[in-house]
Amino acid sequence: MTLLDGKYVSNQIRDEIKSCVSSLLSAGGKAPHLAVIIVGHDPASETYVANKLKACEQVGFRATKIALPETITEQQLLSYIDSLNHDDDIDGFIVQLPLPGHIDETKVIEAIDFRKDVDGFHPINVGRMTLGFSSFVPATPSGIVELLRRYGIVVAGKHCVVVGRSNIVGKPVATLLMQKGMDATVTICHSQTRDLKALCLAADIIITAVGQPGLLTADMVKDGAVVIDVGITRVDDPLSPKGYHLRGDADFDAVAPKCSFITPVPGGVGPMTITMLLKNTLQAYHNLHNNNQ
Ligand code: NAD
Repeated sequence: MTLLDGKYVSNQIRDEIKSCVSSLLSAGGKAPHLAVIIVGHDPASETYVANKLKACEQVGFRATKIALPETITEQQLLSYIDSLNHDDDIDGFIVQLPLPGHIDETKVIEAIDFRKDVDGFHPINVGRMTLGFSSFVPATPSGIVELLRRYGIVVAGKHCVVVGRSNIVGKPVATLLMQKGMDATVTICHSQTRDLKALCLAADIIITAVGQPGLLTADMVKDGAVVIDVGITRVDDPLSPKGYHLRGDADFDAVAPKCSFITPVPGGVGPMTITMLLKNTLQAYHNLHNNNQ
């Protein structure tokens, strides 16, 4: 069994991005600039945003955090988005989700200029990705594909079972894996799927993105399968300094010995996600400066 070390791979990619930024600067250009809007004080969102800003700093990007109060109206938020859409100094930006209940996430996603939508959530980017055109691809699915690629795991002709059908992980990763060039045969499972165990047992590659620790047990995994565990759940742990520890969807200790490859949680898909956001920001920079490489 080989651990798919997302931290290691993501550091490799960050080094590559860093050297691109150095070349841009030595050619007299500016560093790519990412803006992040956060509304309210959700602790998990604040951690994600802090990690994104830190990653920008690590690769030499400029980063701007726009922290807005929980009480902001939808219209005020849409005005901030409009000003970022028209700000030539911002290459790409994201609005950290989830948003407070009084704000319509769909309206917010649709308000972002798709050319600056480095989260890849805008319907134009989703449509273009589905058609196999160039687009911003959501960070978690593209991180999964990159992890598979860098470990030389061939997916062509393999049966991939994706557990979870969210717009940010399940659906886009299934779309990417079945594209021409990736060529996997994909089954998508969700909360209403019957006999998840039988479907998982038939899989060469299982990608689980549910958020239920222990959902994937050893008797659901065939010998030699690849398991990509996207789930991240905080489980109370009074012995940990933080008061919790993170768990994936797989019962890791029992599942891992059956696998050819498996991602740990934490340290698997998580670090790849932020790194692919950086890649998208670099792509936005090149697109906007007509400098495609
Ligand atoms: P979501 O809540 O939007 O979707 C969960 C999906 O799981 C749904 O499609 C639902 O149908 C399915 N589901 C629920 N119960 C099921 C069951 N018993 N059997 C099969 N399917 C079931 O979640 P999401 O936003 O896609 O996130 C999923 C998990 O991945 C969460 O733990 C989240 O924290 C994590 N996540 C991690 C990263 C990362 O960078 N590693 C990024 C995004 C999400």
